Amino acid sequence: MITSAVRTLATELTGDDLPAYVYDLPALRAHARAVRDALPPGLELYYAAKANPAPPVLRTLAPHVTGYEVASGGEVEHVRAAVPGAPLAFGGPGKTEGELRRALTLGVERFHVESEQELRLLAGAAEDAGLDAVDVLLRVNLPLASDELGGAALAMGGRPSPFGLDPEAVQRCLPLLSGAGSRGPLRLRGIHAHLASGLDAPAQLTVAAAIADWARKLSERHGLDELTEVNVGGGMGVDYARPDRRFDWAAYGKGMADLALRHPGRTLRIEPGRALTVYCGWYVTEVLDIKHSGGEAFAVLRGGTHHIRTPATKQHDQPFQVLPMDTTATWTRPWARPAVREEPVTLVGQLCTPKDVLARRVQVPELRAGDRVAFAMAGAYAWNISHHDFLMHPRPGFHYLERRAPPQ
Ligand SMILES: *Cc1c(COP(=O)(O)O)cnc(C)c1O
Repeated sequence: MITSAVRTLATELTGDDLPAYVYDLPALRAHARAVRDALPPGLELYYAAKANPAPPVLRTLAPHVTGYEVASGGEVEHVRAAVPGAPLAFGGPGKTEGELRRALTLGVERFHVESEQELRLLAGAAEDAGLDAVDVLLRVNLPLASDELGGAALAMGGRPSPFGLDPEAVQRCLPLLSGAGSRGPLRLRGIHAHLASGLDAPAQLTVAAAIADWARKLSERHGLDELTEVNVGGGMGVDYARPDRRFDWAAYGKGMADLALRHPGRTLRIEPGRALTVYCGWYVTEVLDIKHSGGEAFAVLRGGTHHIRTPATKQHDQPFQVLPMDTTATWTRPWARPAVREEPVTLVGQLCTPKDVLARRVQVPELRAGDRVAFAMAGAYAWNISHHDFLMHPRPGFHYLERRAPPQ
């Protein structure tokens, strides 16, 4: 359901102020607090910044997260500047030597190393910088039985993958790390895995247990006393078809508390992105035109998938709410207002491509030119994954709603 603050702004903006991204920061704050409260106190919560790196979003999350997972040199710089002092974990494939050196200069707290070459580059950079205890987690591509993953939307574990190290490659990395009997500037602090996304709480718990067990065996087998951290990744599921059905953080928190009891002395860490920020953002626009073609209704909206690529990438209907606009100022043309009633309508944008579809054949009671449409679940992997410059339409406005001052 749209919050009243978002609805008010969405109807007050003029047509030329649209499309607009509207972020409800108090709603984000409340959600992040609820997630944090559901998790056991010892579990570390990192936010995967790539889901939505907007500075107001990063700053709103700051009191509720342990740190941020960043996946490029650009994100390292950006997040450091937006939330100075917050711990960073630097992951992602294909880190360049320059990025690694810069991250060391900026004092990045954890490196998620994805390959043997990257480990060697990082060791060289750390040596050159005169550092002797750079904390590394090896990202491992653990094989998981498919039934463990349930209905994972994007299963990444266990199959051939550009991400992380296969278990055999992890063995080959050990001699390059101190804490494994050798000495060097890098110390093996933990294991990291991000194996799937779109998992519900029971599936996430199964995967987390498999990762933690594997880390324990590795550490026992090789006497890795400093391997005290297990990062089990993100990928907590969200349901675009049912925005009200949220990931079961309470069940997940309980399960992670049990897992922590089975792994005393080890710090468990998660790094969700989407499930933290997706609900706080709305993409608001207006209906420019309504027409029929081949017996089907189309609503042409200002903006489109160049602003919110999510429905194109995920091939889903972006959930939305119609905000009817009934003021006399809304429709001043001397011809009938284009409209559809009680029939399925396909919502498209302004791009000259048949892929510019935001929602397909959705039943609406009524939709007219000039009405507003507020797309929900636009707070993650929305604006920042979109191809903004395609067709050179203007960029949307950005509004970060803060708590309104209490009445005096
Ligand atoms: C993208 C990513 C995440 C966050 O995934 P969500 O599905 O947004 O929770 C976490 N860790 C890694 C390594 C990632 O690549």
